[in-house]
Amino acid sequence: KESLDKGLEKSKESIFGKISRAIVGKSTVDEDVLDELEDILISSDVGVGTTVKIIKRIEERVARDKYTGTSELDSILRDEIATLLTENKSLDFKDSFETENLPKPYVIMVVGVNGAGKTTTIGKLAHQFTKRGKKVVLGAGDTFRAAAVDQLKTWGTRAGVVVIDHGMNTDPAAVAHDAVKKGVEMNADVVIIDTAGRLHTKVNLMNELSKIKRVMQKFLPDAPHEVLLVLDGSTGQNAVIQAREFTKATDVTALAITKLDGTAKGGVVIGISDEFKIPVKYIGVGEKMDDLQVFDRAQFVDSLFK
Ligand code: GDP
Repeated sequence: KESLDKGLEKSKESIFGKISRAIVGKSTVDEDVLDELEDILISSDVGVGTTVKIIKRIEERVARDKYTGTSELDSILRDEIATLLTENKSLDFKDSFETENLPKPYVIMVVGVNGAGKTTTIGKLAHQFTKRGKKVVLGAGDTFRAAAVDQLKTWGTRAGVVVIDHGMNTDPAAVAHDAVKKGVEMNADVVIIDTAGRLHTKVNLMNELSKIKRVMQKFLPDAPHEVLLVLDGSTGQNAVIQAREFTKATDVTALAITKLDGTAKGGVVIGISDEFKIPVKYIGVGEKMDDLQVFDRAQFVDSLFK
């Protein structure tokens, strides 16, 4: 909780510091206040569509209640954001590093553009699972980027897990297949597969990801159980664009939003979960192994308003 608060400090200053400043000297929530609030939400990367939705709901409330003081704005906004996240199924994954109720091995295919924090997130996940005594296999399927395979091996060694790697420029689908096979043989709890983040054409990306899926399904028909899209939260609207590309290319089932420690744009979490209706499962709040958290809606909203 503490590290989440600390990690989100910049976001807090950005959204809620600005709001406090915007309402200084104003006693009621009028059109001016709502206009300013709209600017603040948009500049915090909540996204235009989601911002308009939030403002409209506040307007309706203000109209209904006849008088709404600016001192109530915080709690109204907080309500609306929480409601929005709930509607969009950003469930509270109480402790999704637990695997008791999951298929075994639970196969997670990780997608995202280079630099989003894919490899780091995989390393952090491996660490969280092994910390809980789970057996983990990693597949170094990002075979196109020079450092990716080595980087994954380094993370894997640090977390003490098996890494399946075929080296650079090999077929990522073969790596995925072998990782799943190894996972089954070892009776592993979790298999996490890295993929290349090349977005040069949509069709290419789509073909590549479907091939990886198809080939691993030869060994384990219901794999992957999870397709985790990693997005760099500090890139704001860019992350939204990437989410659009990847959700078109494959069935993304969960999101990990990274680098929320280094950004004044935490609002992107709200906009993304509103637009895509895909649960935000993890957030990255630093570069170290422990800096990955299971997304908790209530805690997230709390931290923004502290
Ligand atoms: P990939 O190309 O998607 O595999 O990205 P990497 O995992 O190599 O990460 C790119 C850079 O982002 C590295 O320098 C990571 O240390 C950094 N990074 C990843 N996640 C986070 C995070 O949550 N917070 C911060 N501050 N840095 C992160």
